[in-house]
Amino acid sequence: MKYIFVTGGVVSSLGKGLAASSLATLLELRGLKVIMQKFDPYLNVDPGTMNPYEHGEVYVLDDGAETDLDLGHYERFTHTNLSRLNNLTSGQVYMSVLEKERAGKYQGRTVQVIPHVTNEIKERIEEVAEKMGGDVIITEIGGTVGDIEGLPFLEAIRQFAIEAGRDNVLFIHAALVPYVKAAQELKTKPTQQSLAKLREIGIIPQIILARTEHALDEDVREKIALFGNVPIEQVVEVRDVKHSIYEVPLKLHEQRLDDTVCHLLHLQTPSPDLTRWRHFVQRVIHPTHQVRIGVVGKYIELQDAYKSIYEALTHAGAYKDAKVDIVRVDAESIEKAGPDIYLAGLQGILIPGGFGDRGTEGKIAATRYAREKGIPFFGICLGMQIAVIEFARNVCGLKDATSTEFDKATPHPVISMMEEQKKVKQLGGTMRLGNWVTEILPSTQAREIYGQELIHERHRHRYEVNEDYKEQLENHGLRISAVSQKGGLAEMIELPGHAFFVACQFHPEFNSKPNDPHPIFRSFVKAALAHHALPEPHC
Ligand code: GLN
Repeated sequence: MKYIFVTGGVVSSLGKGLAASSLATLLELRGLKVIMQKFDPYLNVDPGTMNPYEHGEVYVLDDGAETDLDLGHYERFTHTNLSRLNNLTSGQVYMSVLEKERAGKYQGRTVQVIPHVTNEIKERIEEVAEKMGGDVIITEIGGTVGDIEGLPFLEAIRQFAIEAGRDNVLFIHAALVPYVKAAQELKTKPTQQSLAKLREIGIIPQIILARTEHALDEDVREKIALFGNVPIEQVVEVRDVKHSIYEVPLKLHEQRLDDTVCHLLHLQTPSPDLTRWRHFVQRVIHPTHQVRIGVVGKYIELQDAYKSIYEALTHAGAYKDAKVDIVRVDAESIEKAGPDIYLAGLQGILIPGGFGDRGTEGKIAATRYAREKGIPFFGICLGMQIAVIEFARNVCGLKDATSTEFDKATPHPVISMMEEQKKVKQLGGTMRLGNWVTEILPSTQAREIYGQELIHERHRHRYEVNEDYKEQLENHGLRISAVSQKGGLAEMIELPGHAFFVACQFHPEFNSKPNDPHPIFRSFVKAALAHHALPEPHC
C-alpha cells in the first residue's frame, strides 16, 4: 500500500480536493485501485449540522455519513465507494479519545495530543487501508498549513511516513502562487513560506502544486523548485481551468504528474488511457446543443451550496451533447416579483433540497409555473415536498396545505415528520440518512427512467409525504411512482400527462459520474432539450 498526503498552503479554497481527485483519476486509469479520504481539522463531528453558508453542500454517502463536499469530487473523479471511514474530523478524533478516557482505556496515563490524538489519526489511516484494500490511499488534509487546529494531523502524518517507510509515502503540497498586478509578476514568497512552515514540522513535500491564475514561467518554476528542495519537474502548474473542472486531470497529465508520482512511489504501471475522459471533456467544452435550466433555491449566490446538482446537470448535458446553461434563481425574488420575469425562457426548472421556510413560497410559485405551463420540472427532496404542497393547494383545493416543518399548526399537513423522527432529540446524524431500497411501481415514468424495479438512493431528510393525504393526491392525478421497500414511504412522484414532472425524496445528484450520468438527470435534460421555451418577456 502506498500513501499520498496532500496539504494546502497560503490560502484555503485552493482546489486541493480537485487536484487530489484529478491525480486519483489518472492513477485509476493507470490500473491502480485508489482510495481517497479527507481529514478536516474543525471540531464539528461532521458537517451535517453546519449551515451551507459555512460549509457549502453536505455530501451524503451510501452509509448515511454526512461529509465534506470534497468527497463528492472523490466519488465523481474515481470509482471508489466511500463510507464514513473516509472523512475524519477533529471532532470525531477528540470524541473517540474522550470516550476512551472515560472508559478508562488509557490506564491512568495523562491523555495528550501526542501520542493519543495523533495515534487516533494514524489508526484511521490504517483502518481505511485494512478495510478498503487498494494500491494507493490519497489523504487530503483540510485547512491551510499554519492553522493551529491542523497541527495534530500534520504531526500524525509525519509520524506515519516514518513508520510506513520512505518509499511508500509521498507528500504533495498545493500552494497559491499569487499574481501581483502592480508588479505584473507571479510571487513565490507565500509558497516558500508555507513550505518552510511544513519543514519546521518535519514534512518535506516531494511534489509542489503551484495554484496560479497565470502560466508559470521557467524562472518562477525554478525558484519554487530551489526553495522547495525538489527537482524542477516536481513543480507542477495547476492553473485555473478555462471551461471545466474536468480538464484538470488532463492538464496534470500533460505535465506528467502521474508518471512522477508512480516513479517516486516505485509503482510500475502503464500510461493511462484518457480517451473516454477526453471525449467527455470535449463534450462539456464544445457541445452542439444548449439548454437553459433554472435552479430555484435559497443559496443560489453560493457557488458550493448545490455543487453536486450542478455537476450532475453537467454530466447529463455532456451525455446529450448539450451545454446546460444553469440559471440560478433566488426563490425569494420570485416571492417579490412573481415567477414570470425569472422563469420565462427556461426549458427546465429544478427545485433542490433545503431546510427551513425561507423562500418556500417562491419555490411553490415556481413549481406551479412549471406545472401549468408544461415546463419540465425536477424536484429533489425539499423539491418533491414543495411539489406535493403546490399540488395539494392548487389542484386538490387544500388551501394552506404545507409541511409541518414550516407550520406546525397547518390544517393540511400534507408533508409531516415521521413518527420515529418525533422522538429524536439530537440534531447531528439523526435524519433519515443514506441508502434505502426503493421499489419503483410498474407503468410509471420512473420505471421507464430507471429501467428497473429496485433502486438504492441516498437520503437526507426528516419529513415525508403524509400517508393520510396520499389517496386524495392520487385521486386528483398525482402519481406516487416509487415507495421505500421498508415502510412504503413515498419516494418519487410524477404527473401523468405533463411533459416531464418528476420529483424524488432522495438525492440522485450524489450518484452521478462524468461518464455515467444519473438516469433522472439524463431524462430531465432530454425533456428540457425537447421543450421549446416561451420567449423571455421584455421588462
Ligand atoms: N427539510 C426537508 C426535510 O427535512 C427536506 C430536506 C432536504 O431537502 N434535504 O425533510
